[in-house]
Amino acid sequence: MVQSHPASSTAVTPFEQMLEAPLGKRLIRVLQINLGRKCNLSCTHCHVEAGPFRTEELSPAVCEQLIELIERFPQIETVDLTGGAPEMNYGFRPIVEAARAQGKEVIVRSNLTIFLEPGYEDLPEYFAAQQLHVVASLPCYLEDNVDKMRGRGVYDGSIRALKQLNALGYGRDRTLQLDLVYNPPIPTAEPFSLTPGQQGLEQDYKAYLEAHFGIVFNQLFTITNLPIGRTRFQLQHRQLLRPYLKFLETHHNPSTVAHLMCRDELSIDYLGRVYDCDFNQMEGIPAVTTAGQPITVAALLEAGTLDLVQTVRTASYCYGCTAGSGSSCGGALL
Ligand code: SF4
Ligand code: SF4
Repeated sequence: MVQSHPASSTAVTPFEQMLEAPLGKRLIRVLQINLGRKCNLSCTHCHVEAGPFRTEELSPAVCEQLIELIERFPQIETVDLTGGAPEMNYGFRPIVEAARAQGKEVIVRSNLTIFLEPGYEDLPEYFAAQQLHVVASLPCYLEDNVDKMRGRGVYDGSIRALKQLNALGYGRDRTLQLDLVYNPPIPTAEPFSLTPGQQGLEQDYKAYLEAHFGIVFNQLFTITNLPIGRTRFQLQHRQLLRPYLKFLETHHNPSTVAHLMCRDELSIDYLGRVYDCDFNQMEGIPAVTTAGQPITVAALLEAGTLDLVQTVRTASYCYGCTAGSGSSCGGALL
C-alpha cells in the first residue's frame, strides 16, 4: 500500500550517524559495470544523465582488464551490465561472452527500445543465445506515464520489444529470466509517498500486460528515486530536495541495512575506477582502501584480490535505499 507522510523541515541526519556501525563490505560477489553514458533515450529520472549525444564509454584497455578480472576471480557470481544503454557502449559483447564462458550470471539492464534502433535488431536473439538475464525498465504499465518519463513512443516500442523477448521464451523458459523495473515519478509536491509495495504492483503489471498484450515476465523490481542527477536537479528546482531527504530519513528502516546491494558488489565506471555502487559512481564518490586510496580495476588485478574495501562510503541519498521496504538494483530489499 502507498503511504503518505508530511516531511518535517528540520535538518537531515547524516546517514552514517543513523547506522549503528560503519557499513561493512562483505565478500564481493557482484561486479556491476557501467559501460558508458551513450543511450538512445534521455529519460527525465535518469541518474546517469545518459543520452544519444554522450560519448563516454569503455576503452579497449579497460575492457581487457575487466575480462581478466572476470576470468581470474571465481567469487564473482554475477556480472551486471548497465549504462547508458549497455548494448550501445564499447565492450558489451566481449564482456558478455567472457562472463558466460565462465558460467557467470550476466544481467543486462536494457531499456528495450534499443532493439528497434538500426544496427541493434539482433539483440533479442543474442540475449537468448547467451541466456542473459534481462532487467528491463518499464516505469509504469500505462502508456501515458511511460511516455511522460521516457519520451513519446517509448511505451509502444517497449511493448514490441517485450513481445519479441516472449516469442524467444523469455519470461517462460527457466533459463531466460525477464524482470521489469518500476521507477516512481519524481515528486513534484508534498506530501511524498513511499514506493508502492513490490508484490502488489507486480500483480497489477502482470494482469495488465497479459490482458492487453499477452506479455509475461518473471518479477517486478520497484526502485526508489534517489535524489541524485536529474532527480536531484528537479527536486532542487522545486525546493523539495531537503524535504524529500527528510521524508526518506523519517522512513529509514534499519532491517534493510543487512541487505544493501553495496555490501557485496563493486561498481566499475568506463574508466576502470571502482565505487561501492552505481549511485556513488554517478556522484563521484570512489570506493577506498583502508588507507583511503581510491581503487581501479588495474589495482585489483595487481593486488590479486577483489576485497580491498572494508567500509562502504555513504551519503544522505543512501536513505533512498533504506526507506520503507528498501531499494536496490534488484528491487525492494524486504
Ligand atoms: S534508458 Fe536508462 S540509461 Fe537511458 S536515459 Fe533512460 S534511464 Fe538513462
Ligand atoms: S546509495 Fe544505496 S547502494 Fe549506494 S552506498 Fe548508499 S546505501 Fe549503498
